[in-house]
Amino acid sequence: MMKKIAVLGSSGSIGQNTLRVIEQFPNEFRVTCLTVRRQVDVLFKQVQTFHPDRVVVAEPGSRTDILKRMEDLGTRVLTGEDALSACLEEDASDLVVNALVGAVGLMPTLKAIEKKKKIALANKETLVMAGEIVTSEAKKHGVSIIPVDSEHSAIFQCLAGEDSKTIERIVLTGSGGPFLTRAKKDFKSITVDEALSHPNWSMGKKITIDSATLMNKGLEVIEARWLFQVPLEKIEIIIHPQSIIHSMVVFIDGSVKAQLGVPDMKLPIQYALFYPERRPSSFERLDFTKIRELSFYKTDPDKFPSLKLAAEALQKGGTLPAVLNGANEEAVQQFLEGKIPFNRIMELIQASMCEHSWIASPSIEEILQADRWSRRFVRQKI
Ligand code: MG
Repeated sequence: MMKKIAVLGSSGSIGQNTLRVIEQFPNEFRVTCLTVRRQVDVLFKQVQTFHPDRVVVAEPGSRTDILKRMEDLGTRVLTGEDALSACLEEDASDLVVNALVGAVGLMPTLKAIEKKKKIALANKETLVMAGEIVTSEAKKHGVSIIPVDSEHSAIFQCLAGEDSKTIERIVLTGSGGPFLTRAKKDFKSITVDEALSHPNWSMGKKITIDSATLMNKGLEVIEARWLFQVPLEKIEIIIHPQSIIHSMVVFIDGSVKAQLGVPDMKLPIQYALFYPERRPSSFERLDFTKIRELSFYKTDPDKFPSLKLAAEALQKGGTLPAVLNGANEEAVQQFLEGKIPFNRIMELIQASMCEHSWIASPSIEEILQADRWSRRFVRQKI
């Protein structure tokens, strides 16, 4: 039987890689739904190839001509910010790949859970903002959340066949980004182009900046806490510049399992699409004789305060992780637009976390309010 798949955020890096994997298995998958924010030209090509039942364009602008051409191909086109959740309401998919970037990924995840669809989750912000609610809703509805983030896929693969009670420690590896060896005093002169050139992974802009500030690793700690239900004390971050080991699990008997591979997001995507099966691929293989070095370093919390901020947000919980996330998204956007220097990103996040009126056990609406508040706060400070 063919698996029916919806890809949310199909024009982004994960979305496009997902469709590349799907293309390799024409008899296994049928694409029911694709969604983009504004990239209608990319979407049009995808519609020609995959013939989904429906597409969503959140911000169509004035491109009604191309939307009409998609309708002519037999695909229903929905537009506007609310169309995404409405689309999932009717969509026939069994599996939703959430490859949206940022806080906009939260509500579609909850909608997919409500509709009892399996979720391949690349949108870590969903779990950062509302990890407790999302994971308990998923449990209540019997929905499995399969990680697509490479570190979490690695941990998930290491845990296959293991009892989670036997986890002593999770070791999240990170490349350290492009500024691992740059002095902190030079951070204010970092340019957008420098921050966008990641040494190992090719990714979208937001996550590439998050990798440069190490906030990506901070968000991934929160993501791991909810996905694997382990406390903060059991999650360790190790800098591993070669990005060959994608993460590890240390078990209570001292045994360590690691997942290795060439850095290519198609691998964790394919694993999530077929889980619990493992299928052949033609992806590049590791050549061990060419790996000269696997090195590991401690993180420097003074140089990269993002890790402390994320740990504080996770520990305090409530609305604070949503504020961390919202302020980060807004500050990264302002940096990308050239409005603030690189080192201001962390200062703005910290300020928003200090000024926020914290709620201990928020509803989803209160989490969304905290998100909006933090973005406004950051814009006002600039
Ligand atoms: Mg990652």
